[in-house]
Amino acid sequence: MDKIRFATVWLAGCSGCHMSFLDLDEWLITLSEKIELVYSPFVDTKEYPDDVDLCLIEGAVANEENYHFLKEIRKKTKTLVSFGDCALNGNVTALRNLHGKPEKALELSYKQLATLNNIPDFNYKSVARLIDKVKPLHEVVKIDYFLPGCPPDAEKIKYLLEKLLSGEVPELQGNYLKNG
Ligand code: SF4
Repeated sequence: MDKIRFATVWLAGCSGCHMSFLDLDEWLITLSEKIELVYSPFVDTKEYPDDVDLCLIEGAVANEENYHFLKEIRKKTKTLVSFGDCALNGNVTALRNLHGKPEKALELSYKQLATLNNIPDFNYKSVARLIDKVKPLHEVVKIDYFLPGCPPDAEKIKYLLEKLLSGEVPELQGNYLKNG
């Protein structure tokens, strides 16, 4: 039987969702028998490949790179899972929306810090091309499944993967939502 071409992606998040994935512990060995890990922060792949079967995406869309990469992922992937609360609703990453335009967040996070650290000529505008408002993934592309939690615990990740890898639809259990 062909292995599932599996990916995980880290957009604007803290990596905590990926750390929770590692809490799958010895089940990762079982998982490795069923999947081919074609892209992930856990491996050193540089390009997101074509024909990915299943991808978990951590983090929200906060900058132009996130936005365009997510569009590319959608085109190349059969099933996308919004992985964790930042992906689902913006969560911590979207706190900067409270300050309005991104320039204010850049000023607070970089300019003031540079001043405090006596680096007055630090060019904080070169750090990232932020989009105006942090968005959850489903506001940019169609998402197939949502896995909430900050982070989702390993048992929930395992349940979802077991179902999807065996071609089943995860049941709605309050925490697992299928889109459409
Ligand atoms: S949902 Fe929580 S653990 Fe996951 S990236 Fe966001 S802040 Fe980190």
